[in-house]
Amino acid sequence: MASVTLQNLTKTYAGGQLRAVNDVSLEIEDGEFLVLVGPSGCGKSTALRMIAGLEEITDGAVWIGDEFVNDTHPKDRDIAMVFQSYALYPHMSVYDNIAFPLQIAKMPKEEVDKRVQEAARVLELEAYLKRRPGQLSGGQRQRVAMGRAIVRKPSVFLMDEPLSNLDAKLRVQMRAEIASIQHRLGVTTVYVTHDQVEAMTMGHRVALLKDGVLQQVDTPSNIYNKP
Ligand code: ADP
Ligand code: ADP
Repeated sequence: MASVTLQNLTKTYAGGQLRAVNDVSLEIEDGEFLVLVGPSGCGKSTALRMIAGLEEITDGAVWIGDEFVNDTHPKDRDIAMVFQSYALYPHMSVYDNIAFPLQIAKMPKEEVDKRVQEAARVLELEAYLKRRPGQLSGGQRQRVAMGRAIVRKPSVFLMDEPLSNLDAKLRVQMRAEIASIQHRLGVTTVYVTHDQVEAMTMGHRVALLKDGVLQQVDTPSNIYNKP
């Protein structure tokens, strides 16, 4: 596990005219579930992508644990990312979809197997390992995508609107599931959403972003009581 520290993090576009992320400083504690919330276009994805190393930082710094990672390649950061489009491989079994990042890393087969079984247990996917993604429900596919992220045992989990493609009923169910999985793994998590209900029900703390600027960071109950 590791904390994530954002120090005066800034991203500008259009030759500096648009400040998509504007001087954001925030420390996400070891094992914390932080929800980054705000309306579409407020800079959530851009901030998350800078943490992941997928977006160049204009100004400021990102630390993962005590490591300064501004110049660290995404693959060398101790993180895993889950997107709204799960990007599963349709021709591969659930097992192979989860195992994929470990196979790429040329991990020994026995260790791969151990980790896939462990992830399947945590995510309650043991009965589905031989199926293909097309034979799963939306919620199960989402869990496979999470499985692929957790097999690497990252210190930090980044999620960008992972539930936005699911129907309302499943979204409610998956909110609870993701919160429970995060709790079991104790992995430091940054979760991006525009959905205020997700923010208020899932996170230990909520960080409210508006026009690239951090407005408020507090527990859901404190935000609810003094908005
Ligand atoms: P959110 O995730 O909160 O919807 P984004 O981080 O995607 O917001 O976008 C923040 C702002 O930056 C928006 O105004 C968006 O249009 C702009 N933006 C994002 N990516 C680019 C880009 N590659 N080039 C120019 N502007 C961008
Ligand atoms: P999200 O669902 O994360 O908000 P978007 O549809 O805003 O995704 O953005 C998808 C991609 O387009 C991202 O790579 C983002 O950087 C880029 N993008 C977003 N806004 C702009 C923009 N105004 N100009 C150029 N690229 C953009």
